[in-house]
Amino acid sequence: METRRMGPFLLDEQIGAGGMGVVYRATYIKTGQQVAVKFVPVELAENERITARFERELNILRKLRHPHIVHCYGGGLEGSRLYYAMELVPGGTVAQLLRERGKLSWETTIQYGLQIASALHHAHQAGIIHRDLKPANLLIAKEGKIKLSDFGLARDITATGLTAAGRALGTFAYMSPEMIRGTPPVSHKSDLYSLGCVLYEFLAGRPPFKGDSPAEMIYQHMEQDPPRVSTVALDCPLWLEALITQLLEKDPAKRPRDAAAVETALHEVQSKVATQASFAGHSLSGGPTSLSVERDLSEVRKLVQKKKPKPKEQAPFFQQAWFLAACLLAILGVVVWSLWPASEATLFAHAQKLMASDDPLVWQEARTEYLDPLTERFPAGPHAEQVQQWIDQIEMHEAEQQVTRNMQRGREPKSEAERLFASAWRYEQFGDRVTAIERYRSLVELLQGDAAQRPFVNLARRQILAIEASPGDQGDRLEIVDRALAEADDLYAAGRVVEARQKWNSIVTLYGSNRELEPQVERARQRLADEPAKSP
Ligand code: ADP
Ligand code: MG
Repeated sequence: METRRMGPFLLDEQIGAGGMGVVYRATYIKTGQQVAVKFVPVELAENERITARFERELNILRKLRHPHIVHCYGGGLEGSRLYYAMELVPGGTVAQLLRERGKLSWETTIQYGLQIASALHHAHQAGIIHRDLKPANLLIAKEGKIKLSDFGLARDITATGLTAAGRALGTFAYMSPEMIRGTPPVSHKSDLYSLGCVLYEFLAGRPPFKGDSPAEMIYQHMEQDPPRVSTVALDCPLWLEALITQLLEKDPAKRPRDAAAVETALHEVQSKVATQASFAGHSLSGGPTSLSVERDLSEVRKLVQKKKPKPKEQAPFFQQAWFLAACLLAILGVVVWSLWPASEATLFAHAQKLMASDDPLVWQEARTEYLDPLTERFPAGPHAEQVQQWIDQIEMHEAEQQVTRNMQRGREPKSEAERLFASAWRYEQFGDRVTAIERYRSLVELLQGDAAQRPFVNLARRQILAIEASPGDQGDRLEIVDRALAEADDLYAAGRVVEARQKWNSIVTLYGSNRELEPQVERARQRLADEPAKSP
């Protein structure tokens, strides 16, 4: 490990690692409080998609405040690396618990189910879909409390308009059919499907679909009914099984309306089991043997009948030719679906939707998913011009971020274009619009033929237009610098020594080599020397 310090935190040992982040136990130096700190490991820190996703995760987590969602204290930069701190949840994950215990009781399943449903409901109401709900992302706190964590794949549907085709990102074992297929669009119901898989696993000790290969699992999610959970968890209340079956519906429209409805249903299971227990007097389990409601009985019969025609001695289904053929077809379907070139109009429509957002991370996605493919495949299409404009917009934003970041951190510019832009920008900030415009113009002049420098050329053009359009006289350099000197003196007289020194410093740096302004620069130097870094 290259550093033991992350902002105001001291890293202790690593407590977890996932696909994109590492998590350390850490101490908040100021108070000694124990926290968990997550960051992108060094090997991935240069990968912009991953860091962008990490930033999105942080922003999403910040929006959420709920007793069953891991609480984020905030994030920061250590050098150029983004990290964030969250509450330390010390009890391990539910995945570990399942490995130790095999399965969980139906009572615990309901307890956990209620907590997850309420966390999901909170996220969904904030417009956020988790998309990666699984036991490894459920952390165990004290007293049977669990917390939903890892919003690394989460989507903010309010920020993106609507999710584009669901990307196959999560773990296959918990992935909804629409997420695999990309249609219908992924909604909060996709999290409900994953919740069904998770509750199933709590009871059965294995997720509902367990293939040896992703292909098998994909096929099962899309086409097959899972084995009945009560065949493995014998004491599972029938009503709980029925709820899980509904959560696992292939068609999102057939699943419960929302996470709040799942909470209600879970409470109902509890109270039905309790009523039935007091009726029967002997069974607390709510198992099928003690059912008293006709409707439920008929449901049992139906479910049992379904299983009836037992195949005789036969090879396991997954070795049979029909199954393998079906699998192959399903995989082919998925592959063809995902590779089938979308038409220009479709790509453009998707891009348009995402570019309407004001979140630059969403633009990034528009770029990789739609804009780059558009320029590559339809360079002379009817939308080419608009597409180029969007790409310019994205690249300008990136260039601007880069230049401000490097300036703030006192880093050397990475290119001549950046250096020229930064210098013009400094004059503009100082209030010297004349010099700023001159510098921007010479940047454009010098680099406009150079495709690689296009973003900075565009940025410079934008600044020129902005300066020209903004009211106020362009002033003359001499006047501007004289005014700055006077202002610095006023600041100094008012006791604002630091600000005064900043102004004098700017004058020396910006105009040190300007013959015409020699007296002004000299005076600024003099004032700085008179006032050797006196503290404010
Ligand atoms: P990834 O996005 O890489 O999957 P996670 O956020 O899931 O990362 O974290 C990886 C692992 O780190 C988790 O499975 C868990 O073991 C551990 N972990 C994450 N957050 C915390 C926390 N707040 N407290 C304790 N352990 C945590
Ligand atoms: Mg994880």
